[in-house]
Amino acid sequence: MPEHPTPAKISSGRRTFAIISHPDAGKTTLTEKLLLFGGAIHLAGEVKARGAARRARSDWMKIEQQRGISVTSSVMTFERDGVTFNLLDTPGHEDFSEDTYRTLTAVDSAVMVIDAAKGIESQTRKLFEVCRLRNVPIITFVNKVDREGREMFEILDEIADLLALDVAPMTWPVGMGGQFEGIYDLVDHRLLLPEGDSREFQGKVVQTSGLDDPQLDTLISAQTLAKVREEAELGLAGYATFDGDAYRNGDLTPVYFGSALKEFGVDSLIDAIARHAPPPHALPAEPAPVAPDRDEVTGFVFKVQANMDPNHRDRIAFMRLVSGTFKRGMKLTPTGHGKPIAIHSPIMFFAQQRELADEAFPGDIIGIPNHGTLRVGDTLSEKASVRFTGLPNFAPEILRRVVLKDPTKTKQLRKALDDLSEEGVIQVFYPDIGSNWIIGVVGQLQLDVLLSRLDAEYKVGANLEPAPFDTARWIGGEAGDVKEFMELNRGAMAKDRDGDPVFLAKSAWEIGYVAERYSKVKFMATRER
Ligand code: GDP
Repeated sequence: MPEHPTPAKISSGRRTFAIISHPDAGKTTLTEKLLLFGGAIHLAGEVKARGAARRARSDWMKIEQQRGISVTSSVMTFERDGVTFNLLDTPGHEDFSEDTYRTLTAVDSAVMVIDAAKGIESQTRKLFEVCRLRNVPIITFVNKVDREGREMFEILDEIADLLALDVAPMTWPVGMGGQFEGIYDLVDHRLLLPEGDSREFQGKVVQTSGLDDPQLDTLISAQTLAKVREEAELGLAGYATFDGDAYRNGDLTPVYFGSALKEFGVDSLIDAIARHAPPPHALPAEPAPVAPDRDEVTGFVFKVQANMDPNHRDRIAFMRLVSGTFKRGMKLTPTGHGKPIAIHSPIMFFAQQRELADEAFPGDIIGIPNHGTLRVGDTLSEKASVRFTGLPNFAPEILRRVVLKDPTKTKQLRKALDDLSEEGVIQVFYPDIGSNWIIGVVGQLQLDVLLSRLDAEYKVGANLEPAPFDTARWIGGEAGDVKEFMELNRGAMAKDRDGDPVFLAKSAWEIGYVAERYSKVKFMATRER
């Protein structure tokens, strides 16, 4: 009889990851190709639809459409050579939402996509910082080498300098732009060649004995070959050699060059994730970290998404399973608030494996329909025995005062703001003095989404006006110090949706100033639940 694998064994063959990038670097294209190579071809079209929808971002309908599609593509599962990949989608629009940040709390590793002509851009960098905060290891994919880009060395140095990481080149482009003649694999000494008019990679691989292999003279033009030999030699000598532990500690990033569009490097990337990226491991929790081999089912909610149909207030809570074997119908208890919930109709994302369709393992994501009971940051477990930590709220970068068009709708507004803040669309702050509620977001698009949804779903007309504040910080420290600070700064104090104190500042400069003056009080740009 075949041996029945244990949940821990099954989860060791799982790779749960996300792609981080700046808009236009090629995340959508790469996602499509990863799914294609992983055999989940039917999903590729959906990803494309989402990419197209994203471009018309001023139009509310399009936002809704995108939101709808992103429910089904929130988690994309594919398999290859016995490894199951869970690719978690991070919202693709130009503005950040907390969703994007929080999705990174649910992954074990990330792929950072960089445009070869642009290098590290602002949003890549912000997302990278979130990964660093949580020690999420990163594989780098330098995309679009089929176009004219920057010098390889410049890009490698930029990654090393800006992100303070060791870089280990794993492949090397053979020419770029008009001179692009393929990719050389520095580890397995393989040459990947373009074919046909499209100059795409269609599987033509030549095994060589090394860069000095005379075969190469017949395959690559003399000028390009001379350049690649020289560059790759310098590259190998001048940068770190790949070290699995350093990568998994977040100290080193292996760098793969490629072209998602022409399908170069995608294969190597999947192999790299399978070979080197960490499987699910123990996650920080109170009273102690939870490892995947614990019997009890535990997980946490990292994202809550409203139903597309505004007449139904259902929400889908996305839970990352941390330990145990989840079975359909199981009862789980949200830690801290509540009764057990029977999960009868979980949305599972790996239905292609028939025999496992009713089960999920550590590293998998389960969508749980509910009516607003479950919130981002909630821990769910069989025995309510643990609470996962490290699911931060991020200090908003844009603050606005919400002004009702019809002042009798205060109650509806409060309900709407509480709901939307639970979903992570906005953060809401209730000032200690005065009655004008303040909302905070990390990206402009969230403001459009807020107004449209207030109107469409809650029938509340509102305007957003400039707030006299520019940014916010959660405060902490000894109770006496915090109290004294709050009393002296009442005009700038507010409570967040959980009643925790927040200092609203007129500028980043002011935060620096008060932090110096009240050195015993801590000013925090993130808050953990
Ligand atoms: P996203 O915003 O990061 O999701 O980027 P997309 O995948 O939508 O790509 C942005 C643009 O770059 C599109 O026009 C793509 O066709 C193009 N693109 C993506 N990957 C490549 C590539 O490897 N080479 C070239 N030349 N263009 C690419």
